Amino acid sequence: MPVTDPEAMKIVEARVLNKLVCRRCGALNPPGATKCRRCRSKSLRPKKKKIGIRK
Ligand SMILES: [Zn+2]
Repeated sequence: MPVTDPEAMKIVEARVLNKLVCRRCGALNPPGATKCRRCRSKSLRPKKKKIGIRK
């Protein structure tokens, strides 16, 4: 089910994309994390701000 309502989209972005992804093992970590919860690597990147809206 694609999200089309722009208001709902903001909420979805905030909740789904506000995460950190480990560069080493790919685990998702909470936004405030400094270390990966799985492998303890400090190499975290913010999750890409892209979600499935296809034109
Ligand atoms: Zn990791």
